[in-house]
Amino acid sequence: MKRYGYGRQSISGEDIEAVRGVLQSDFLTQGPEVAAFEAELCRYTGAKYCVAVSSATAGLHLAMLALGVGAGEEGITSPNTFLSSANCMLYTGAAVRFVDIEPDTGNLDPAKLEAAITPHTRVIVPVHYAGQSCDMEAVSGIARKHGLRVVEDAAHAIGSEYRGEKVGSCRYSDCTVFSFHPVKTITTGEGGAVTTNDPGVYERLLMLRSHGVTRDPERLERNDGPWYYEMQDLGVNYRMNDLQAALGRSQLKRIGQFRRRRREIVAFYREVLAALSGVSLLSERPFSEACFHLCPLLVDFSGRSYSKPELFERLKGAGLHLQVHYIPVHLQPYYRRKFGYSAGDFPVAEEFYRREVSLPLYPDLTAADLEYICGALKRCIESA
Ligand SMILES: *Cc1c(COP(=O)(O)O)cnc(C)c1O
Repeated sequence: MKRYGYGRQSISGEDIEAVRGVLQSDFLTQGPEVAAFEAELCRYTGAKYCVAVSSATAGLHLAMLALGVGAGEEGITSPNTFLSSANCMLYTGAAVRFVDIEPDTGNLDPAKLEAAITPHTRVIVPVHYAGQSCDMEAVSGIARKHGLRVVEDAAHAIGSEYRGEKVGSCRYSDCTVFSFHPVKTITTGEGGAVTTNDPGVYERLLMLRSHGVTRDPERLERNDGPWYYEMQDLGVNYRMNDLQAALGRSQLKRIGQFRRRRREIVAFYREVLAALSGVSLLSERPFSEACFHLCPLLVDFSGRSYSKPELFERLKGAGLHLQVHYIPVHLQPYYRRKFGYSAGDFPVAEEFYRREVSLPLYPDLTAADLEYICGALKRCIESA
């Protein structure tokens, strides 16, 4: 029996040749590929600057460092996300507050945002859930009014558009962070990128990515000679390497095709699964043209004879090894203990978690795969 996960990479012969080329070159780490990938991501997203990093988690942390978010301050994000969107604030000593989500998109609800702002709030981290952009006009309007920074967690959203522009353009934010983990839309193995339009933030991202070190003669406080470098801040090593960047450049060439296929698959699920009662797919807002990373199926279990874990066992029996996005972050033991969160704090995200199942969504799924998956879903959901 074939095994289906919710996501997987698509690697072509050209992708393999691109990586082979780097292996046979002089540079495995800081060669020409990283800078070329960064320039291509700028062209693709429309942002002025881009810094490639070792993961989106690293990128989110780096963005917090570059913006100077730290101890005694607070950041706001969605509970319906992967841990990194919140953890990045804790790494720099800031505290996390959550804002509940919209039930039909899974995105942070801008109508609830202002109530979470305190005099300590410094940054908002909206998460573009499943690849659909948050309402960034609303988020950035509130941020401007309160003097807050905005860092978009776009781990799901490379290739997505908001009001006719690519996510990552940073029209409504200080930074946007992408992930290139193999389950995401394009991959570099592990990897990520931060885009920005602010030259000062760009300089800080660059320096902090590599130990807080600079070799730029114009920035040095003194200069002992041609070997000389200076550590001017406490940075980290979050660099991407040339093997990863070469794969990323090759994948970026295929993103139009990935996007078309992902949207096609979601449209197919929408059509076929509409016949099932008590289930729904996400709504897509008029401002959004998503390159979907996830296809969340929302199942109402209230009138059913089986539980969600039982449905998962049935699906596994049919070769569908699915996942749930997400366990609300505030209910993780660490967050409960540290901030005193408990069940009921963010009821919409909690209900979303009770219903959500992520369907297989990746470009290499064939028409036959989709027929099989939909048949199995119907059988598993409709039988008592
Ligand atoms: C995957 C993911 C991340 C982390 O990405 P990595 O590249 O694995 O560090 C962060 N935020 C969201 C919403 C994600 O889905």
